[in-house]
Amino acid sequence: MYPVARKLNLPLAGYKVSGYSFKQNVSSNNACKGVHLGEDARCKAGAKIKAIGAGEVVYCGIHPGAPRKGNWGGIIIIGHRQCKTKNDFYSLYGHLGKKYCNTGDKVKIGQTIALIGQSYTPNNGFWPTHLHFAIYLGPWKGAVLPGYYREGTLRTKLEYWRSPSNFIRNYNQIK
Ligand SMILES: [Zn+2]
Repeated sequence: MYPVARKLNLPLAGYKVSGYSFKQNVSSNNACKGVHLGEDARCKAGAKIKAIGAGEVVYCGIHPGAPRKGNWGGIIIIGHRQCKTKNDFYSLYGHLGKKYCNTGDKVKIGQTIALIGQSYTPNNGFWPTHLHFAIYLGPWKGAVLPGYYREGTLRTKLEYWRSPSNFIRNYNQIK
């Protein structure tokens, strides 16, 4: 059972969506066609990434298949238990360089879990430096989750994903 997240914080100081937004259609980009399932926040290489709430690290590693444009480079996925509904959910952080946790670690809200990777390196997935941040409510099968939804591929379902900014805002309002 994952630790209960009583409150949630944003993962990055000065968090601002400045890149692909949640459910933005990026079908014009050859590297990653589909509907973007998270939010991208531009930041400097070395920016501290913090756990959004109490949880347990369920994935910590490099995107399988890297290096290749269109991947997340270093990834951390944290499992959390919702304090009200008791349902599980997952926070996902991509394009990470140095990581300060391992799979199986329990983390606290605000704990630094990683630093953003350098631009155009395997850690960053060969992108300009930014954080890819996503909230997933679907079943966890131990494998890296997709970053894009494409109809017909059966890789994920749109209803498993939430707007990260809205999810955190709403979570802290429901008592
Ligand atoms: Zn992204």
